[in-house]
Amino acid sequence: MRLVGENTISGMYTEVEVAELNSKFKGRSPDEILRWAVDNLHPRVALATSFQAQGVVLIDMILKINSEARIFTLDTGRLFQESYDIIDVIRTKYNAKIELLFPDLKQVEEMVNEKGVNLFYKGVENRLLCCGIRKVLPLERMLKTLDGWVTSIRRDQTENRANTSIFEIDNSHRGILKINPLINWSSKQVWDYIEQYNVPYNKLHDKGFLSIGCAPCTRPVKPGEDPRAGRWWWESDTDKECGLHFDNGDNE
Ligand code: SF4
Repeated sequence: MRLVGENTISGMYTEVEVAELNSKFKGRSPDEILRWAVDNLHPRVALATSFQAQGVVLIDMILKINSEARIFTLDTGRLFQESYDIIDVIRTKYNAKIELLFPDLKQVEEMVNEKGVNLFYKGVENRLLCCGIRKVLPLERMLKTLDGWVTSIRRDQTENRANTSIFEIDNSHRGILKINPLINWSSKQVWDYIEQYNVPYNKLHDKGFLSIGCAPCTRPVKPGEDPRAGRWWWESDTDKECGLHFDNGDNE
């Protein structure tokens, strides 16, 4: 059996191994967790990000560990201009290769021709269909090629995330390793890091956007409102996740 900390070529982690990892990295910094991920899984591990505040923090950290570390994002085709701008700013500043994943053209064509370009406003089912085609399926395509992926989720973002661990087996994706280095960080720690290291960030954060997704599905929140209140705001009763668990909350 593979020992925790040994280099791996490919394959899944057992519950016991993941428990060992969580025990070993309890109380350790995001940087140490990322370093383990890169040292043990690169190039079959990648950081998933939508370039929100916690995402750019992890980008800064991971590229300082290994300038070749893999970073990918989902270009749904409906992002804000500011979100495209930050992708380019990061790419230039770090000379980084950002892997952009696009939805299947045929599926998007069929969906919008049948249901309209703004189908998501016409019911949760339509919204989930759009998120499925534009986000979930491209993500699954990517994860099929990996042994592990890194997310920027934090425990304090939503109730759903309160029990998240640093290392998890991702049973939705072949049992690969899901690594959440920022799980114990607060929003303040994220912004302190951005300031300390002068990390570029999405300018929508300066306009009241705490959680940034697609342009037609995101709006700024008022002071004191739930960070995710600006996402799919017309859906008051539904669970505001999209099946990704990396680009939400203050979220990513
Ligand atoms: Fe479609 Fe909105 Fe989901 Fe983006 S957030 S994929 S536009 S439903």
